Amino acid sequence: MPMKKVTIIGGGLIGSSVARAIKEAALCERLVIADKNIEYINQIKQLNICDDVTDNPSNAVKDADLTLICVPVGAFESVLIEIKEHLKTGSILSDVGSVKSFVNEIMFAHAPKDVFVIPGHPIAGTEKSGPEFGFSQLFKDRWMILTPRRDVYDADILEQKIKELSNFWAACGANVDIMEEGHHDDVLAMTSHLPHLVAFSVMNTAADMEDESRAEILKYSAGGFRDFTRVAASDPTMWRDIFLKNKKAMLPLLQRFVEDLTILQKYIRQENGEALFDYFEKAKSLRSDMHFEQTKK
Ligand code: NAP
Repeated sequence: MPMKKVTIIGGGLIGSSVARAIKEAALCERLVIADKNIEYINQIKQLNICDDVTDNPSNAVKDADLTLICVPVGAFESVLIEIKEHLKTGSILSDVGSVKSFVNEIMFAHAPKDVFVIPGHPIAGTEKSGPEFGFSQLFKDRWMILTPRRDVYDADILEQKIKELSNFWAACGANVDIMEEGHHDDVLAMTSHLPHLVAFSVMNTAADMEDESRAEILKYSAGGFRDFTRVAASDPTMWRDIFLKNKKAMLPLLQRFVEDLTILQKYIRQENGEALFDYFEKAKSLRSDMHFEQTKK
C-alpha cells in the first residue's frame, strides 16, 4: 500500500532522483520537497517532480509517513533541530548520507522517541549536483544500505518499519542490504572515500605543474587521466563533510595508503624492477578477480 505522504529534505541530485523514482512508481499520495537553495526550488517547480516544494522543512515534514534527509552530512544537525518537533508519531526518519556512524549519532540525539530512525545510504550517484541532473533510474540495481540500531525499539515493530523502508527502496529499483553503521563507514572509506580523495589530490598535483605541462595534460588526458579523475568534479561541500564526518575510518586507511605509496617510491628509487613487477602483478590479479556485479541476493 502506498504511503500517504513522503517528505524529502534537500532536492539536489539524490533527493530529486528519489522524487522522480517515487513519482514513477506512485509510491505515495503526496510528495513534498524542502530545500534552502532558491534556484533549486525554482528548478524543482519547473521539473514537476513533486506535489509541493518549499523552503520550510518544519512545515514540510508535518504528517509525513517517511522523512528522507538528502542534504550534505554537515547540514544534518541544523535540519534535525529545525524539524524534530514536527515529525509525525510513528513515522520513519531516514536519509541518504554517505557516512553512517555520525548520522546515527546525530539522528538519535535529536529525533523524538516515538519516531523510527533508520538511516540509509544508496550506493549510487554521479559527480554532478542539483535537481536538473537527477534521474529516476539512478537506484536501479544499485545497493541501498540501511544501518538501523537494534537496541532502541521493540524488535517486532522495528522489523516491520525496516520492511516498510526496504519495500520503498526496492520499489525505487534498489537492492536493499542491512549493515552495522561502523562497518559501513570502514567499507565505504575504502571503496568510495579513498578513491575520491586520491582523484582530488591528483588533480591538485596537476594544477601545481607549470602552465606548459598543464596544457599538455589536457591534450593527452585520454590516457587514463580523464577516467581516473572524473570523480574530482564532485561537489566540494559534500566531500568536505564526508571526510570530516568519517575521520575515524579515514585516518587509519590513509596511513596505510601513504605507507604503500612510500614503498612504491622506494622500489622506484632503488630501481627494484622485480619488486615493482610483483606489486603490480598482485594488484592486477586482484582487479581481474573482481566482477563488480550489482548482484541481487
Ligand atoms: P546536492 O545535489 O548538492 O543537493 C543537496 C541539496 O541540499 C542542495 O539543494 C542544498 O542546497 C540542500 N541543502 C543543504 N543544506 C540544507 C538545509 N539545511 N536545508 C535544506 N536544504 C539544504 O547533493 P547530493 O549529491 O544530492 O547529496 C545529498 C546527500 O546524498 C549527501 O549527504 C551525500 O553524502 C549523499 N550521497 C550523495 C551521492 C552522490 O553521488 N552525489 C551518492 C550517495 C549519497 P545548497 O545548494 O544551497 O547547499
